[in-house]
Amino acid sequence: MQDEKATRAVLWIPTPEVESVRPVGRLVRVWTRQFPYEDLTYVWPEAAGVEPQVGLRVVVPLRNRRVTGYVVDPQAPPIERPDVRYRPVDLVLDPQPLCPPALVRLLRWAADYYLQPLGAYLHLAVPPGLHALHRAEVRVTPAGLQAAAEWAARGSVRRLPLWARVLLYLAEARKATLPKVRRAVGSKGLHAAVQYLRARGWVEVRERLHRWSKVPKTTVVHLVRLPAAGERVPAAYREVLAFLERAGRDVLLEELTEGVRPSGGDDAARRRLRDRLRRMVARGWIQLYEQYHPRPIVWDAPVGSETPIVLNDEQQAILEALRSHVEAGTFHVGVLYGVTGSGKTEVYLRLIEAAVRRGKTALVLMPEIALIPAVTQRFRRQFGDLLAVLHSEMTPAQRTSEWWRVRTGQARIVLGARSAIFAPLEDIGVIVVDEEQDGSYRQDELPVYHAREMALARARMENAVALLVTATPSVETYAHARQGTYSLYRLTRRAVPGAVLPEVVLVDMRDAYARGSHPFFSPLLLTSLRETLDRGETAIVLINRRGYAPFVQCRACGHVRTCSQCSIHMVLHKKAGVLQCHYCNATERVPSRCPVCEGPYLIATGIGTERVQALLEQAFPDVRVGVLDRDTLSRPRELFRLLGDFYEGRVQVLVGTQMVAKGHHFPRVTLVGVLEADTSTGLPDFRSHERLFQLITQVVGRSGRADRPGRAIIQTYRPEHYAIRYACQHDYEGFFREELAYRQRFQYPPFTSLIALTVVHPEHALARQYAQTLTDLLTQRAIPETQVHGPVQPLLWRLQGKYRYHVLIRTTDRRAVRQALRDVLGRLPFRRDFLRVQVDPYELV
Ligand code: ADP
Ligand code: ZN
Repeated sequence: MQDEKATRAVLWIPTPEVESVRPVGRLVRVWTRQFPYEDLTYVWPEAAGVEPQVGLRVVVPLRNRRVTGYVVDPQAPPIERPDVRYRPVDLVLDPQPLCPPALVRLLRWAADYYLQPLGAYLHLAVPPGLHALHRAEVRVTPAGLQAAAEWAARGSVRRLPLWARVLLYLAEARKATLPKVRRAVGSKGLHAAVQYLRARGWVEVRERLHRWSKVPKTTVVHLVRLPAAGERVPAAYREVLAFLERAGRDVLLEELTEGVRPSGGDDAARRRLRDRLRRMVARGWIQLYEQYHPRPIVWDAPVGSETPIVLNDEQQAILEALRSHVEAGTFHVGVLYGVTGSGKTEVYLRLIEAAVRRGKTALVLMPEIALIPAVTQRFRRQFGDLLAVLHSEMTPAQRTSEWWRVRTGQARIVLGARSAIFAPLEDIGVIVVDEEQDGSYRQDELPVYHAREMALARARMENAVALLVTATPSVETYAHARQGTYSLYRLTRRAVPGAVLPEVVLVDMRDAYARGSHPFFSPLLLTSLRETLDRGETAIVLINRRGYAPFVQCRACGHVRTCSQCSIHMVLHKKAGVLQCHYCNATERVPSRCPVCEGPYLIATGIGTERVQALLEQAFPDVRVGVLDRDTLSRPRELFRLLGDFYEGRVQVLVGTQMVAKGHHFPRVTLVGVLEADTSTGLPDFRSHERLFQLITQVVGRSGRADRPGRAIIQTYRPEHYAIRYACQHDYEGFFREELAYRQRFQYPPFTSLIALTVVHPEHALARQYAQTLTDLLTQRAIPETQVHGPVQPLLWRLQGKYRYHVLIRTTDRRAVRQALRDVLGRLPFRRDFLRVQVDPYELV
């Protein structure tokens, strides 16, 4: 790292006595998680001796709490209001932003492009282990002590109301953190009790900075200034100052202890020195920082040996072309397009090697965390400790430690999921986005971003090569490749000879049903399953819906249970005995009678993974059937056992949602069945056809990956749908042509850009009204080459208890729209919290 100062955090700075100040020095804007859509203005603490900069973490007062925030504007204008009183920043946690300057630039770009608050990106870019922790502390007041004495006199503590027990506890403890109070008196109703005590003035609640990272630290002493001439300096301080001056740099506390050798036993001496230092901080002579000392993760040694691979001609030619761009240090976007197993990973591994050899760094993104471990092995064999892994399933300590190795330049290659796009790398040579078409690169929550688009922006800023790797390019990417804005690199055959594409059979379920087959399984699928299992091979069955059945209906009155918070059916989870909303996760016990007419007959309609598993276990009693879906993912141990069992053949059929389609390599699988392949085609979403094509193509690719030929059986009620047809014929080009024509006809991306504004409000009338206001405001502006549609009530018109309305913007002049929108968002006639802004939305439901 260029500037080692960035590794420090200010330990302690005296808090100014004044609560708020009127005439001020510099003002800064600070983003906090508590008000994510409104940056707040504070006075900069000049005494900190740190220049305000974008990205610095600070602690600021917020009402009667103290919270951590990020400086998002180091030169804020004064607020134009006569009564305004600014409060000062309490603490500056870093003398330098934690993120390197180039990354801060990328975050600014994202904030600008996606119209999201910059602070939200700054927060996201720092690993959770470095997030400052604040804790509410409750203290009893003198009035509270008196009240407690009166209550104590009344006798039996067990019959007291909760608030009185809290008060009595605090009368003893004087002050305690909320978790401590909870342990002492129990948690039920605790918040209400504390509120009550607070309202009576018997307790005070303060948010305290508890600690600002879980990472081990050492203390560093920094000389701010020497005492002015004439300032009185006690001898003990003079010694320390002289030592610092002699050193001419910041010193570790241990060095100082050695250097000035305070007398007495070790502990006492150290304590005395600390006291002395603290007083010196108060006089403004020195500062104490903390330096992180993360311990690197100890990985298992990679297993398996490396058989040297000689690239084939295609691979070699592509590698050389890409390498020339890395060596020239020019921005270049390549699309590496080839079927699974065509050797794409091998090519980018070597490209990264070339970049690292030239002193550059590299970033590799994968869409699924589940895919990372297998690739990690390959990377670690090649790069050893130069590799860092970053994804959200790691513990905060692990993530921080890996993050820190990247930040300090010990690790130069980052492999991770979506959020690894924020890795603190410097001087990047290559950014690889593997499975670039995958929808999970898009984050829809605050702050919105698409990791592939961010990768392109980052590569452009760093003059790096961006490599989009895929077996089925996204429509956007392929359109660019065809226009020549991205360079297309094709691998046309599988690297391992012998493996062939599976045979695909389409089954028209209308036909099968008419002939009286099982309602969910065609005769062909059942016999193929039997044959496959009898041969000792295994099968995957895809049904893209978890749970037992998508809805439960009363046979007497027809009532279908919907979520009380969302406009969607509750899904039956039979094993768990609950109905669950898949949008807000609300659950309720399965009723035994219809809640409307009291009828006793409730029927489960349709299928999900759980029901398919049950049906298959019935049909094949000798066979073990496993389920892989989001429910399994939430139990990691079970997940790994299941994947292992299926890999080894102890589980013979794996039923799952789209999760089974992605990337896994199961050599025993020779049959793939797809149930209800058309479920998504009816959705009012322009990307639904593309997603369907991708899904079928990927799951078909799971079949016959080793030496045995594979087969796929696709059951559908819409065999004529082009996405299904082309996927079955392994015809990407055909699909692309038709899809592009459809997008052009309806003016969808990539022919236009979309921005979706969603108003969410608990009151229906207000949601509508705000959406209308917004539509009017935007329409009035008559933005060139832009249409505004709204308000539109989406399919999911109610979500988590809030009503939703879309305002959709379609444009060919993004810049004009962004400018107009920034303006409109800046003076919205309603609270910004009620509005979600989605630039380039991935889904429109
Ligand atoms: P993809 O990323 O396209 O799925 P990989 O790079 O993972 O393909 O390669 C698939 C398999 O083929 C891997 O086991 C890899 O080691 C092997 N492989 C790749 N290139 C070659 C090659 N030129 N010769 C032999 N084996 C290769
Ligand atoms: Zn719900």
